Amino acid sequence: MFCKIISGEIPSAKVYEDEYSFAFLDINPINPGHTLLVPKRHFANLYETSDETLKELTPIIKKLAIAVKKAVSADGINIGMNNDPAAGQLVFHAHFHIIPRHLEDGFRHWRGKRAYKDGEMSHVAEKIKASL
Ligand code: AMP
Repeated sequence: MFCKIISGEIPSAKVYEDEYSFAFLDINPINPGHTLLVPKRHFANLYETSDETLKELTPIIKKLAIAVKKAVSADGINIGMNNDPAAGQLVFHAHFHIIPRHLEDGFRHWRGKRAYKDGEMSHVAEKIKASL
């Protein structure tokens, strides 16, 4: 569906475009100015996105974060990416959320929990290292 936004078939409030990427306002923003940055090449999620594309997009995430913060006088910016339905992904074209935040916007941060039993933390770290 984001391919149709990139091609202009579906209208969007575009804020940025270059050879590799396209950015537009989220239609249901967390706060006004909430922007989505998508690679022009279709990748379903982060896992499939080529390293080359990620290298092109990373400085644009920074550029947009600074521009969005300034444009809506935000106090902070969250960068997010949902991958897989379990993580809340609804649109299966990789995209980064650039979300302006205000001190009094009422949103809470995720709360960490005491999820590890004794010795489990190092075990999980080892499993991640073995998966790299
Ligand atoms: P995600 O849950 O990360 O897949 O988020 C998809 C995002 O795309 C949601 O925040 C939607 O509000 C946004 N979205 C879906 N359709 C459109 C559209 N046509 N124009 C702008 N944003 C959209």
